[in-house]
Amino acid sequence: GLILVTGVTGYIASWTALKLLEQGYKVRGTARTLSKAEYLKTGPFAKYASNFEIAEVADLEDDGAFNEAVKGVDGIAHIASPFHYRVADAYVDLINPAVNGTVNLLKAAKEFAGPHLKRVVITSSFAAIVEPQEPGHTFDETQWNQHSVNLAEAFKADPTNPSKQIPANEAYRASKALAERSLWDFVKTEKPSFEVAAINPVFVFGPVIHSVKDAESINTSVFLLYKYIAGLNPKVEEGAAPKAFVDVRDVADAHVRALEVEEAKGQRFLNVGGPFTWGEVVEVLRKHNKLTKNDYPPTGEVVPTYGYNTTKSKEVLGLKYTSLEDSVLATADSVEAFL
Ligand code: NDP
Repeated sequence: GLILVTGVTGYIASWTALKLLEQGYKVRGTARTLSKAEYLKTGPFAKYASNFEIAEVADLEDDGAFNEAVKGVDGIAHIASPFHYRVADAYVDLINPAVNGTVNLLKAAKEFAGPHLKRVVITSSFAAIVEPQEPGHTFDETQWNQHSVNLAEAFKADPTNPSKQIPANEAYRASKALAERSLWDFVKTEKPSFEVAAINPVFVFGPVIHSVKDAESINTSVFLLYKYIAGLNPKVEEGAAPKAFVDVRDVADAHVRALEVEEAKGQRFLNVGGPFTWGEVVEVLRKHNKLTKNDYPPTGEVVPTYGYNTTKSKEVLGLKYTSLEDSVLATADSVEAFL
């Protein structure tokens, strides 16, 4: 079959496309930066180059952006969405591209994909689930992040009020919650003939295979880890927010399985390898001599712990999760060139 992967030039999407190619699928990848897509063709996808085609989608917010790209596909993994914290305006920079990109993709899928389209899988996030909770709380797929959405809506209603400004991380979380909500709303109101599923990963670590021009261009989740490797962080800072990781190869598998497995339809999947602390990450890096520019003393900080119910991803998608040590080490090896 032919699978459309949106934002194929990104960290998670390049792995998802590679896993699909390895399993014999043909992949059409959308890209706004064609040189980054060409890099995949001659680099990590070289063995499968004849099964990989590139579709330019300059701006996912344009009306009809995906109308051409969806034609004739059997499945779609919609992964393109901004993940960064350079936020001047929460709506312009994050929320609008996330929501409009999702809606444009779904509309195109319904109108232009054709009769072979069976399923659309959307990359949502733990950001669409997490809300402030007491330590000990266990997160699962029944939960929704209304908290960040409320902050975004208060800002929208009163954008010039300084007390309504929202931190960049809350703006990002709102973008993911609203984008995923637009998926389920679309299904309810438009009743498309294709099925859908959502994948909700936590912080993604693991090897980088896509084109990255310099350290500053490393994707957001890996960059957080890179900062410890490169010694850019003066000390280990845990923070109070729930922290869990998942390896990018397991996220890619989750997308592939969610396209294939019958029972995955209509479901969202919390996608978690396990909780972590930055202290543990630093210990793994130290053990393997990957702390090249700095050394970090133990913090002694007490870190609140949370639970993550991954039963559904294991039972329905058949996922097996990579350990923190393997994931951190593979990440470190893949970003060595940027040190
Ligand atoms: P990347 O930044 O590597 O990938 C983002 C992709 O989206 C790139 O292909 C990028 O294109 C494209 N993109 C971003 N903004 C736009 C835009 N305005 N118009 C067109 N294309 C755009 O990050 P990830 O791979 O980490 O993220 C992919 C998805 O996974 C996102 O939906 C993110 O929310 C989600 N996610 C990520 C997690 C993580 O920890 N990494 C955790 C949970 C969810 P280009 O290459 O040209 O920049």
